[in-house]
Amino acid sequence: MINKPLLERQLAELPLYTYFYIAPQSLEFSERIRHICKSECPMYDKTWACPPAVGEVAQCQEKCLSYQNCLVIGTIVEVEDATDIEKTLLTRSDHEKLTNQVRDLMREQGVQPYILSTEACAICERCAWLDGLPCRMPGKMHPCVESHGINLIPTLEENGLDFIYGTNIVTWYSLLFFND
Ligand code: SF4
Repeated sequence: MINKPLLERQLAELPLYTYFYIAPQSLEFSERIRHICKSECPMYDKTWACPPAVGEVAQCQEKCLSYQNCLVIGTIVEVEDATDIEKTLLTRSDHEKLTNQVRDLMREQGVQPYILSTEACAICERCAWLDGLPCRMPGKMHPCVESHGINLIPTLEENGLDFIYGTNIVTWYSLLFFND
């Protein structure tokens, strides 16, 4: 069983804006989010971390609900100009590093979390998905939260949080599903 007090002491030492547990059943899974991926995201069908590679929303939901617990972590950063997409996306790598740090803390306790994080996977220059090959680093890549049809906004609101705080404030969230 995961030692939550220990984990929480360790989380408190990281530059996280927020962290809290939720029941996976409380998440909202929606075909509407999948539709947005398909119709608006340039990364649709480009990586193993995105649809359709991640499977149907119902399969993603089943996978998430197969875990007993979920840790939500969030980071927040102020940028000079959020419309500068390149610079804004640079802040994502810090969030990804923190997500992996939290993963490692959980692994130290013998817990293997299933992780959903931000945006498409950018580990390889060209994703193996495009060449019909298996993912080169399945243990390292994290599908994005939205790829699983998850609408995180209600979860954030229930916990007194927001997705958008202002023009030049960027927030990133990851979900780490685990079994106690
Ligand atoms: S690790 Fe490489 S092959 Fe796997 S999803 Fe990421 S970019 Fe694609």
